[in-house]
Amino acid sequence: MAALTIGILAYQGSVEEHEIALKDMGIATKRVKAPEDLAGISGIILPGGESTTMGKLLRRFELLEPLKAAIQQGLPVWGTCAGMILLAKEVEGEKPTENEVHLALMDIRVRRNGYGSQLDSFATHFVLPDIDPDPLPLVFIRAPYITELLSDKVKGLAVIEGKIVAARQDNMFVTAFHPELTTDKRAYNYFLSMINSK
Ligand code: GLN
Repeated sequence: MAALTIGILAYQGSVEEHEIALKDMGIATKRVKAPEDLAGISGIILPGGESTTMGKLLRRFELLEPLKAAIQQGLPVWGTCAGMILLAKEVEGEKPTENEVHLALMDIRVRRNGYGSQLDSFATHFVLPDIDPDPLPLVFIRAPYITELLSDKVKGLAVIEGKIVAARQDNMFVTAFHPELTTDKRAYNYFLSMINSK
């Protein structure tokens, strides 16, 4: 296998946690903040954090359009939590003007902070058959979830109590949960297999 470098959008959020997880797996990472940082990466992770802040910074650093173009041209992308919100074509309750700070590429509608205050952070185990036959540990932090798949190009990968918490559309993979906060590497392996099968 050729050596890979995975980009991580690095304005804020779980950047270091993803770096540590990939380093553990012997995979090189590169922090992405500006358009020139897209050079030489084989895939990119949009981490959990605060999606509105990340979206505004994507615009300020003039990375929004180049990143969008790179993903449209096939760059594999994995959005975790806030990253899933950035990729969604529709965010419930947000006006199209607010949507200007989103990548808006994936045919999903998401509900931010979908679990409300009582359950806003929790952990569970669940089987995602596309990833592995055995249950994965899933950590949710003020997580969004997908309320609707907007086309048949997108496949839901896990539905927990009626809420879609992972999905795949071509080169785009999203999870409402945070594998970087566990030691489990199966979701990383799934993303790496997306890259290697390109
Ligand atoms: N609630 C955050 C948002 O809307 C996402 C939380 C997270 O990424 N852990 O951006």
